[in-house]
Amino acid sequence: MLVSAEEMLKKAKAGKYAVGQFNINNLEWTKAILLTAQELNSPVILGVSEGAGKYMAGYKTVVGMVNGMLEELNITVPVALHLDHGSYDGCMKCIEAGFSSVMFDGSHYPIEENIAKTTELINITREKGMSLEAEVGSIGGEEDGVVGKGECADPNECKSIADLGVTMLAAGIGNIHGKYPANWEGLSFETLDAIQQLTGEMPLVLHGGTGIPEDMIKKAISLGVAKINVNTECQLAFAAATRGYVEAGKDLEGKGFDPRKLLAPGFEAIKATVKEKMELFGSVGKAC
Ligand SMILES: [Zn+2]
Repeated sequence: MLVSAEEMLKKAKAGKYAVGQFNINNLEWTKAILLTAQELNSPVILGVSEGAGKYMAGYKTVVGMVNGMLEELNITVPVALHLDHGSYDGCMKCIEAGFSSVMFDGSHYPIEENIAKTTELINITREKGMSLEAEVGSIGGEEDGVVGKGECADPNECKSIADLGVTMLAAGIGNIHGKYPANWEGLSFETLDAIQQLTGEMPLVLHGGTGIPEDMIKKAISLGVAKINVNTECQLAFAAATRGYVEAGKDLEGKGFDPRKLLAPGFEAIKATVKEKMELFGSVGKAC
């Protein structure tokens, strides 16, 4: 059964480790992540962007697929199904479809409007026993042509949103979605520390986990980050493994064209990436 991310993140924050959010795109992604979490006895959050939800034929399809796998693969570790960077409407659709967690990304609204919409969603998600992630200070991305430092959130705005009663809070601390540029200045630990001082027990979320050096990840966890989003890294690993298979001509040998064979190296590559991240984040063995 899907669970809210609240309990797993409270435990992570108290225990000084982080739970990984791994974004899913299809059946192979979902199965690889769930099996790895189970093998490592780690809690896990499956992230679904609005675009990926649409790609997978809608949120109800996603809920059906994930619930089916939890049962048929005997997944007993805590699993949350979470909307990533949701709009207000997207959150409402996922709440209705049976997700156990949503992120409302109101970072592009003026802070007053972000607060008003976040408050409405807190009331709805609380009633349903779901977790809610809010965002303050937008997190840059390669599509925005961001070079160098990502935006840093205002710690006081973070406190205003945290005090509303959200489950977890994403704040820009110089992190960026996608690949990091060569001249990236790194995470702003001063900002993170200031946010943690003001928000206390609130589990903080680090987006754009791909390509952040290990020592920075560990330091971020020590300063209150309890959820780390990984997306691009699984995509890169899947693409490289699939390319290797095709370039070696294996799809031309025997039944190598069978999609179950063609997609197997990518599936294993996702498993390896998820394992590496769970070990780095410290969530291995924490699923009880
Ligand atoms: Zn993000």
